[in-house]
Amino acid sequence: MIQTISILGSTGSIGTQTLDVADKLGLRVCALTAANNVDLLEKQVRKYRPQLAVLFNEDKAAQLRHTIKDTDTKVLAGMEGLIAAAQMESADLVLNSVVGMVGLRPTIAAAQAKKDIALANKETLVAGGDLVTDAVRENGVKLLPVDSEHSAIFQCLQGAAPNKALKKLILTASGGPFFGKTRDELRDVTVEQALNHPNWSMGAKITIDSATMMNKGLEIIEAARLFDVSGDDIDVVVHRESIIHSLIEYNDNSVIAQLGVPDMRIPIQYAITYPERYPSPVQELNLAQIGKLTFFDPDYETFACLSACKRALAMGGVATAIANGANEEANMLFRQGKIKFLEIGELVTGAIDSVPNVTPKTVEDVLNADALARQYVKDRI
Ligand code: MG
Repeated sequence: MIQTISILGSTGSIGTQTLDVADKLGLRVCALTAANNVDLLEKQVRKYRPQLAVLFNEDKAAQLRHTIKDTDTKVLAGMEGLIAAAQMESADLVLNSVVGMVGLRPTIAAAQAKKDIALANKETLVAGGDLVTDAVRENGVKLLPVDSEHSAIFQCLQGAAPNKALKKLILTASGGPFFGKTRDELRDVTVEQALNHPNWSMGAKITIDSATMMNKGLEIIEAARLFDVSGDDIDVVVHRESIIHSLIEYNDNSVIAQLGVPDMRIPIQYAITYPERYPSPVQELNLAQIGKLTFFDPDYETFACLSACKRALAMGGVATAIANGANEEANMLFRQGKIKFLEIGELVTGAIDSVPNVTPKTVEDVLNADALARQYVKDRI
């Protein structure tokens, strides 16, 4: 098993749960990064004594540098810091759980430094596409999924028949807080209502993405890229209980699923210990107590983000980066009370139809598409 881990995004929901897993596995932590949560990062630095701590925000980095000057931990800021954390000499594995496509360059940097990557930052794969998967392949590193659905598929595929026998992937979706609602009923929903997720405790950005079902749209794109499957061969089924985390179907119509209580520490730990398994503090699954599991078709019309992502994937080029960039901006504007809930889907759809699509040759092409998509959204509020 790996000995030393670098955690990008250590103060978020996945980051703190990763530290919990790392504690139980007895791992060393060589780098920790946060966007701007200086207080929690200081506590983590004092507990784990990493070689490097990074705050993306320059002012907060200066603040941390001052408060931990009694330790040996070096402090860096910005993208330079994130890339340094992704390329730590002593890291056996880099877990990337930053929020948004700011994680793209660190993911590629980790691959270039020959580091295996545990990826919780789905936006980098959505925006970066082939640039990420090519960097992983060319450098011969592993890209291990942390997202619960993708971990489920990855687990189902262990010891699987050759890929040509695989017919489709079936992603489960909780449906979020607004499952079953009509567009009319969603017109005036508040940020507080959208943040009230039924099953998972997550950060604010992904919880809103779950309410709009953008999260599932991003996950379709993520699955297509991780498992080299066409978007037409990826289905979504709404499963309110979040017990089945996803399924695969073979050409003989045999379907294999992965189940467990909804606790991210299972997929996090599997990405860290793969291909081995270790005991976990996560609760056992008691099916008799759950009693029944339910399944529904998703509503692609009400949840426009879901259809927009499927379309962007089929369009190719930077269309998925455009969908993601427009959503990152619209999601934030909704949380700030500047736009209404349904406008998120309208803006994502509008962006993929309006921002020019090109075939990206470099990361700069992706960053440019992302910037144009964000500008498209800003110009419309
Ligand atoms: Mg997920």
